Amino acid sequence: MKHKKQFETEAIRTQSERTQFLEHSTPMYLTSSFVFEDAEDMRASFAEEKEHNIYSRYSNPNSTEFVEKVCKMEGAEAGFSFASGMAAVFSTFAALLESGDHIVSAKSIFGSTHTLFTQFFPKWNIGTSYFDINDLGEIEKLITPTTKIIYAESPTNPGVDVLDLEALGNIAKKHNLIFIVDNCFASPYLQQPIKFGADLVIHSGTKLMDGQGRVLAGVTVGNSYLVDKIYRFSRITGPALSPFNAWVLSKSLETLALRVDKHCTNALRLAEYLEDHKKIEWVKYPFLKSHPKYEIAKKQMKAGGCVVAFEVKGGLEAGRKFFDAIKMLSLSANLGDSRSIVTHPASTTHSKLTKEERESVGISDGMVRISVGLEHIDDIIADIKQALE
Ligand SMILES: *Cc1c(COP(=O)(O)O)cnc(C)c1O
Repeated sequence: MKHKKQFETEAIRTQSERTQFLEHSTPMYLTSSFVFEDAEDMRASFAEEKEHNIYSRYSNPNSTEFVEKVCKMEGAEAGFSFASGMAAVFSTFAALLESGDHIVSAKSIFGSTHTLFTQFFPKWNIGTSYFDINDLGEIEKLITPTTKIIYAESPTNPGVDVLDLEALGNIAKKHNLIFIVDNCFASPYLQQPIKFGADLVIHSGTKLMDGQGRVLAGVTVGNSYLVDKIYRFSRITGPALSPFNAWVLSKSLETLALRVDKHCTNALRLAEYLEDHKKIEWVKYPFLKSHPKYEIAKKQMKAGGCVVAFEVKGGLEAGRKFFDAIKMLSLSANLGDSRSIVTHPASTTHSKLTKEERESVGISDGMVRISVGLEHIDDIIADIKQALE
């Protein structure tokens, strides 16, 4: 039997073909277009009778390497990479849906995705119904004859709630719907939604995949029939990932497992510290026993991820005071960075939602989200401890 390589090995050894210079590390292919041997070679390439890079809006060796790695990590057949996570989200839906189609989505989703569904898709007569993540039984009541897609994220942003992917996959299969998961918070190292029935998996590569806060990127992988539709839409509309960013991303993926392991041990340590702190109202982290979906998190994830959410006692005022007292951690909106980041969702990432909409997805005014980085955990805790005091 052929030996099947492990995740870490695939992340390092999946590489584009070497050039005649026999370089060890993949070079950057900063080229917009590619050349052909002769008229027949060019004709056959354009006719898709042979695999040949034509133009970097379609494909490029750097983006192909990045996509191949993500496919191996997620157990996917095919994929396409994008200039940002939102380009991946938009292009995936736009490629698959027709006017009159309907999406059934979890209520707790990334802020920009929520805005896309509620403010822009109605322009093209695409509607969305939202289900409460704590009531999956509600989903079947929302499905109509025009429903095409079930959409969810797990863990959710910023509330770090966990959805049962297997249960969602079963509902999608029963009703013959496309099940799409935004797997950005877990990264492919911690969770592979295809195993639980997802047809497509979307990532913002900007987060844990890059892991050092340098580039924007997105990727969609999964069923090759669906990916082909996404590819055909995207090579015309032009949201392609730049070769430079693809090169950065592919390098980053070589250390994804190492980095995410460390993010998770640091995050769990911080969550445990906060759970015992008298100035904290509540703490949420998927691998804390107190998390309402701890058992599901254990079933579908390898570890809890890099994000810890909590509420400082005293609501908005106390939250703001805590923020202003932070010294080392960055006050920023990114996550999955080597540097720990503090965010206040109500006034930033989710400020476009109404207060009622925020509350319905579990975002209270005083809620703080920390993306736990790779600094020494003692230093991360020391900063939070002094800020709380
Ligand atoms: C950041 C993020 C996105 C969007 O990605 P960008 O690269 O910022 O466009 C989508 N989904 C989730 C869960 C995210 O955290």
